[in-house]
Amino acid sequence: PVFSLGGGTGFVGRALTQLLRIRGHEVTHVSRQGGKDRISWEELSRSGLPPCDAVVNLAGENVLNPFRRWDDAFCREIISSRVETTKTLAKAIADADQPPRAWILITGVGYYRPSPTAEYTEDSPGGDFDFFSRLVSSWEAAALIPGSPTRGVVVRSGVVLGRDGGAISRMLWPFWLGLGGPLGSGLQPFPWIHIRDLSGIVCYALESECLQGVFNGVSPSSPATSNGTFAQELGAALGRPALLPVPAWAVRAVFGAERAIMLLEGQRVVPKRTLESGYHFIFPDLSAALKDIVA
Ligand code: NDP
Repeated sequence: PVFSLGGGTGFVGRALTQLLRIRGHEVTHVSRQGGKDRISWEELSRSGLPPCDAVVNLAGENVLNPFRRWDDAFCREIISSRVETTKTLAKAIADADQPPRAWILITGVGYYRPSPTAEYTEDSPGGDFDFFSRLVSSWEAAALIPGSPTRGVVVRSGVVLGRDGGAISRMLWPFWLGLGGPLGSGLQPFPWIHIRDLSGIVCYALESECLQGVFNGVSPSSPATSNGTFAQELGAALGRPALLPVPAWAVRAVFGAERAIMLLEGQRVVPKRTLESGYHFIFPDLSAALKDIVA
């Protein structure tokens, strides 16, 4: 089978591409840059979807880039890099002579309202109370293709933990230097998933012939993980102390108050439908996940 991945060149995309190729699938990336096994977004709009069995969208401007100021221009880029790429792929699928069998979108647990106590499953309400929740709603709405024979899957991902990118790559240096610690109070829930499980869930959904709808992409132990536990476990995996809390005001100063919510608050998310689908997590446990990553 041949798969087309929007944003497949990124952190999650590289892991997914590797997994799919190991499993004998062919992968084409849709990218802003040309290259081997790639097509551009313009080419996709102009010439339509290359013949393929499934499509995945992973494109999106990095929200937590500390070098970008949280202003209107950046917010528009965050939205359009997700919503417009998703619309472009959805349109290409709708227009295809031979529609692919599956269409998978990765969004985020920002759909659910941050709370220290509430637990959310895929059926919980959300999507309408702040910038991130509304972003996820319009992103997921952009993927809808009414009346399409193509199976649609949305994976709402937590913080993706992996070796060469994402959250951990930004934290490794301070933690190595013994300067790591919880963000703010450290009591906020920390919804997380190992990158091999996120790509594992997407691959499982692609290869299954029947999965459809929303799946939470978080580890089963993630509802019990706080930011403080995460800092402690990362410190332990590195053999470094992780006792220095980063004060909330400093996080707000770097990221801006609205974006800092992502770091200073969190959601307890349960992967209910994901577990019911029969997917077996490789890293349900945080300390094993972190040891694997920093080893
Ligand atoms: P990356 O930051 O690695 O970016 C993925 C790809 O998106 C890039 O390789 C790039 O592809 C494309 N891209 C970046 N900026 C733009 C832009 N302005 N316009 C169009 N395309 C752009 O993302 P991840 O792999 O970490 O995440 C993949 C998806 O999963 C994203 O949508 C993200 O929001 C979501 N997600 C990620 C989480 C995480 O912790 N990493 C958590 C929850 C959700 P190219 O240069 O080839 O065009």
